Amino acid sequence: MRIMKKPSILLIYTGGTIGMRSDANGTLVPFDFNAMYEEIPSIKRLNVDIDVLTMTPIDSSNVTPRRWVELAEIIRDNYRRFDGFVVLHGTDTMSYTASALSFMLENLAKPVILTGSQIPMGILRTDGRENLITALEIAGAVRDGRPVVPEVALYFQNRLFRGNRTTKQSAEELSAFSSYNYPALAEVGVNIAYNHAAIAHPVDDGGELRIATSLSEGVVVIKLFPGIGEGILRAILSVDGLKGVVLETYGSGNAPTSEWFVAALREAIARGIVVMNVTQCAGGSVSMGLYETGMRLQSLGVISGHDMTTEAAVTKLMYLLGGERPDAERRRLLLEPVKGEFTPDDVA
Ligand code: ASP
Repeated sequence: MRIMKKPSILLIYTGGTIGMRSDANGTLVPFDFNAMYEEIPSIKRLNVDIDVLTMTPIDSSNVTPRRWVELAEIIRDNYRRFDGFVVLHGTDTMSYTASALSFMLENLAKPVILTGSQIPMGILRTDGRENLITALEIAGAVRDGRPVVPEVALYFQNRLFRGNRTTKQSAEELSAFSSYNYPALAEVGVNIAYNHAAIAHPVDDGGELRIATSLSEGVVVIKLFPGIGEGILRAILSVDGLKGVVLETYGSGNAPTSEWFVAALREAIARGIVVMNVTQCAGGSVSMGLYETGMRLQSLGVISGHDMTTEAAVTKLMYLLGGERPDAERRRLLLEPVKGEFTPDDVA
């Protein structure tokens, strides 16, 4: 697949702050992305052709796996027609959506760039204009006839990140996202400086895009804290339909060694529940062999989430525990990176 003409981009608007403008009375009303060229005439100067598709706009706090499936279907249905995709999304759950899409879009070979803003598009000081323009430019960037960023990525405030490595880290700063455990895919200043070595390129270039549409609803996050109670932990672990637990542990993957805690986890794992260990720390990795408290979890069959974000771990479990998949394949995919979502120990 070589891009020889002006790249074509599908801009998908899903909602969020970026899609608001103020009307004549100063009230925030939805921004019409179909009239984008009138609102932001400078976009015409970009060397890309843009089509706009507006989904029913929602605040991203209302995002559900059903919405991710709709988004994945839109991308699949338009995959051949466009060279890249930009998804405008509320910032609150953007990292979850980026992580989910990274797993759901199997064999992706084109850019899917998510962005949004902290200040509405219609406010003079908006960060949305620059985020949108640069995301479009990145989605259309071509090198030797091929897309520069053929993966699900998130662009915000001068930095492009691998989507499933991001976390919303500030409700206030314009630089709202961080990727603590993986370098930026690009830094944007006067020029866009791509970190080509950090960008993933599909092995099966040119193959068909497949989408996963069956995501498990049986996933929960349990964040440890001193004083977590046995009754509550056991109640969560025995809920009907539970299939996977993201266990947010301390530091490098440590948890209490008390008998009741260990027994509750052992029993859940024996019932076939997948327990994945991620750290509560923003940066760094789980290393269960380091302390006795971590080793105990390892011996129970808890799976290391390495340096995965909670967002990536939750959506990876939804993806792997949904749908039909041979057990051996599921097990293998739980232990290895599927879309660069964690750093394996041998390269850490
Ligand atoms: N609540 C908004 C949302 O996530 C915030 C934003 O867009 O920044 O949809």
